[in-house]
Amino acid sequence: MSKTDEMRQIKDEVLNLKTSPLYKYRTDNKYFPVIGEGSHDAEIMFVGEAPGKTEAKTGRPFCGAAGKDLDQLLAHIGIARAFVYITNIVKDRPPENRDPFPDEIALYAPFLDRQIDIIQPKVLAGLGRFSSAYLMQLFHINDTRPISSLHGEIFEATASYGTVHILPLYHPAAAIYNQSLKDTLKKDFTVLKKFL
Ligand code: URA
Repeated sequence: MSKTDEMRQIKDEVLNLKTSPLYKYRTDNKYFPVIGEGSHDAEIMFVGEAPGKTEAKTGRPFCGAAGKDLDQLLAHIGIARAFVYITNIVKDRPPENRDPFPDEIALYAPFLDRQIDIIQPKVLAGLGRFSSAYLMQLFHINDTRPISSLHGEIFEATASYGTVHILPLYHPAAAIYNQSLKDTLKKDFTVLKKFL
């Protein structure tokens, strides 16, 4: 099966994920699940938390306020959005943008795991504490420091397809009204340049 077919299959499964506690909220509001966007051969894969309202209305990741910040960060290091792959752990919008619950992360994470195996990126950048912690745990990196300490550090791990680098980062939304976090994120993003 081609990478595109495998991604399409993931989309079909998520669309019909009636066991999700977020399914009814999605259909009641005529929202879309957000599967991911970008190159299926990307060296760099970004993993956010969950879709916000703009994302759920369009089916595209990071296209609202946090997306503008992500675009600026990518521009800062000279990477086109189409060159990377962008997704989230939780594929449906939690009500009122609340933090995802552990059972929601557990339900949706296997889809992310399959996307990682399809794309086989060299680096997995976690956007925010939930996705960063999940990636650390997935690749058996036993470092439970908070994101305020982990951000910007590269952790080497072994994936099914070879070496992968995990880069925990702050969530762009956290930096919207915080210039010092924005500067930190900019600096941390420059680490990605060596994977180009
Ligand atoms: N925040 C996220 O974590 N993901 C999105 O797609 C949008 C906002």
